[in-house]
Amino acid sequence: MVNYKDLGLVNTREMFKKAVAGGYAIPAFNFNTMEQMQAIVMAAVETKSPVIMQVSKGARKYANPTILRYMAQGAVEYAKELGCEKPEIVLHLDHGDSFETCKDCIDCGFSSVMIDGSHLPYEENIALTKKVVEYAHQFDVTVEAELGVLAGVEDEVSAAESHYTKPEEVIDFATRTGCDSLAISIGTSHGAYKFTPAQCTRNEKGILVPPPLAFDVLHEIEAKLPGFPIVLHGSSSVPQDEVATINEFGGKLPDAIGIPEEQLREASKSAVCKINIDSDSRLAMTAAIRKHLAENPSHFDPRQYLTPARDNMKKMYIHKIVDVLGSNGHLG
Ligand SMILES: [Zn+2]
Repeated sequence: MVNYKDLGLVNTREMFKKAVAGGYAIPAFNFNTMEQMQAIVMAAVETKSPVIMQVSKGARKYANPTILRYMAQGAVEYAKELGCEKPEIVLHLDHGDSFETCKDCIDCGFSSVMIDGSHLPYEENIALTKKVVEYAHQFDVTVEAELGVLAGVEDEVSAAESHYTKPEEVIDFATRTGCDSLAISIGTSHGAYKFTPAQCTRNEKGILVPPPLAFDVLHEIEAKLPGFPIVLHGSSSVPQDEVATINEFGGKLPDAIGIPEEQLREASKSAVCKINIDSDSRLAMTAAIRKHLAENPSHFDPRQYLTPARDNMKKMYIHKIVDVLGSNGHLG
């Protein structure tokens, strides 16, 4: 049993309180590799931003849970080395699928977990979430729950269609489970294909314009639970310049589409205090690697193509923090 406090990590409680009051959102970046971890830490330190580093089931399978935990511990020490005296880094389990997975993560040093019972009948979601909350709170670990179903695919989380969160359920759910934050469904979606072309319109340049998020549902939820931390999953913007680079250098991502950044900027000013971004990091990394290898066919040292990949991810993380979520300068 390792307590996250001994690793220098923090939970989300104070962070979210300040974010909701201050009208900004904390970035939650998924990570699987050392380069992603380094880019996240460099971006957070340079912008003086708190940050959530999150691990999905797929990441646990790919990188090994123990390694990821030590990488998060390394992230704290690395941030200090980069000149940040008191980094605020959360190690969070993304889409925990069972009590056992959540318990495993809590026991090995995670400071925050998500239990995703959104696919279960309402009462079962409550029972499972409550069980995780009771265990987690003994160790001051915070718990994110989910109500409503998102469309799209993120690792092994998939749902063919989305069902918006029902505002009339949120008070009962939050009260009975004791969860610390709530992921809701208002039209965001997992993956790099958040909408089919049929769900979108096209602008004069032929670029797809997605349907707007359901801000009316968000505002209704905020009115029911004033000040309660709300989380948005599936909030990558799928930058069209990265998609174009990937396609230019041998990739094939036709009509990949995300959530427009101005909508995320608006959401950040509300009770939305955690915004999950995964696909944009994948796209930034892949675009840089494809471009580098196409332009330098003789290179075979991974450091040669992973350096521009890391730089490109760092640039994207800084852009999100400063220009979209507004969490820069909010350390301490
Ligand atoms: Zn998610």
